[in-house]
Amino acid sequence: MPSSSTPTSLSIPDLRATVHGRVIAPADDGYDKARAVFVGGIDRHPAVIVRVADAPDVATVIALARETGLELAVRSGGHSSVGHCVSEGGIVLDLSEMKAFDVDVATRTAWAETGLTAAEYSTAAWAHGLATGFGDTGSVGIGGITLGGGVGYLVRKYGLTIDDLLAADIVTADGALLRIDADHHPDLFWAIRGGGGNFGVVTRFRYRLHEVPSFVGGLLILPATAEVVAGFIAAAEAAPDELSAIANVMPSPPMPFVPEADHGKLVILALMAYAGDAESGERALAPFRALGQPIADMLAAMPYPQIYGPEDDSYHPLAISKTMFMDHIDLPVAETIMEHLEASDAAMRVAQLRVLGGAMARVPSDATAFAHRASRIMVNVATFYEGADDKERRAAWVDGLVAALQQDDRGAYVNFLADEGEERIRAAYPGATWDRLAAVKARYDPTTSSG
Ligand SMILES: Cc1cc2nc3c(=O)[nH]c(=O)nc-3n(C[C@H](O)[C@H](O)[C@H](O)COP(=O)(O)OP(=O)(O)OC[C@H]3O[C@@H](n4cnc5c(N)ncnc54)[C@H](O)[C@@H]3O)c2cc1C
Repeated sequence: MPSSSTPTSLSIPDLRATVHGRVIAPADDGYDKARAVFVGGIDRHPAVIVRVADAPDVATVIALARETGLELAVRSGGHSSVGHCVSEGGIVLDLSEMKAFDVDVATRTAWAETGLTAAEYSTAAWAHGLATGFGDTGSVGIGGITLGGGVGYLVRKYGLTIDDLLAADIVTADGALLRIDADHHPDLFWAIRGGGGNFGVVTRFRYRLHEVPSFVGGLLILPATAEVVAGFIAAAEAAPDELSAIANVMPSPPMPFVPEADHGKLVILALMAYAGDAESGERALAPFRALGQPIADMLAAMPYPQIYGPEDDSYHPLAISKTMFMDHIDLPVAETIMEHLEASDAAMRVAQLRVLGGAMARVPSDATAFAHRASRIMVNVATFYEGADDKERRAAWVDGLVAALQQDDRGAYVNFLADEGEERIRAAYPGATWDRLAAVKARYDPTTSSG
């Protein structure tokens, strides 16, 4: 949300006197930690970071960006793959200290402030035996993931995160705080369900919660061959909606429970999630276990939030990735995946495969700004790189595998998009979705034209 009015200068003391939250300037302790983001290689120095405390603070910071002409970056969990949450020389509106969670067990709904991470929300909801689905990583902010759609462990059972979004409190570019839902500002409510963070700053979401009394899941590591990869996809497509799986075809990391002889060998490192009772879960998981002699089988009944394992705060990988949808992964396609993975010597390279469908696919494509309801498999191709020396060839490897895998579905999921230009943003918002988003943007944030 850049500004168009005559700039005034930024005064940190004035800002400190105005907002209820924390103002972190370059000379302050904690500045470097506060400007750090999840992905490596992004080293931006904002003029100020404001850890907002409430909606009035949000309005103040939006106004400040307009008045100073400084770029405004909005941050929830800081996991944007392109660093949209931090600005060089601009203002960071950081929601990470807004973490209130107000659950109404009777209606199975919760208001959650957007500084919560997926793991924090899930743990708070689980205290009541309830859950809302987010993504595969606990430290991802509910702000960014929800606004883009949200594809996670409950996607086939309950749909995208936005399919459980009932309302939001949003501060728009003009500083107004709006409560939006299906009946109030329905166009804006439609847009924020998949359209990303382009329409204002959301301070709270109201979500539907589900009872997940029992859950079976965890890590299953299988030796990767083309047959096992194709078999895995077939099993995931045949599985009941209760089962959502994420198959990472990659070299095995040197995990303590993986025999040393297997370190670095191509495996399917699968994250399995069965939202149902243990006995049916075992039945649904059996076809995956039968694909090969598991290298590690850590599937177990567990409380749902336990699927979010511990994370290392200092982990900031240098990665290149591209996202795509595919229609099918049969044996020849699996062979292509294996050949490309074998041809690279990057320490970490992965084809991440997620079979979609289920509840996500039962929502009409135009019901929200996420238009890819009919897409069958989401694929993320990624590799780590070490620096300038190998970046180009690692990027070429990603492009090569993506090109080799391209089928008819040319869409893209916005939350996994890298900096790939307008054509790919258009791929995230095909046809009428783009026009509808542009109209909502023109109505609620007429000062900026791009999305
Ligand atoms: C390790 C990792 C794993 C991931 N796994 C999944 C997954 O399984 N499923 C999935 O769907 N996605 C996944 N993602 C993608 C993730 O959903 C996006 O990167 C998401 O944008 C991150 O949200 P965030 O709040 O953490 O990030 P941020 O960088 O804080 O925000 C991302 C974007 O959203 C905007 N934004 C954030 N909060 C608000 C708000 N309250 N109001 C307005 N705008 C806001 C920001 O301005 C920014 O443009 C993953 C990403 C990573 C890095």
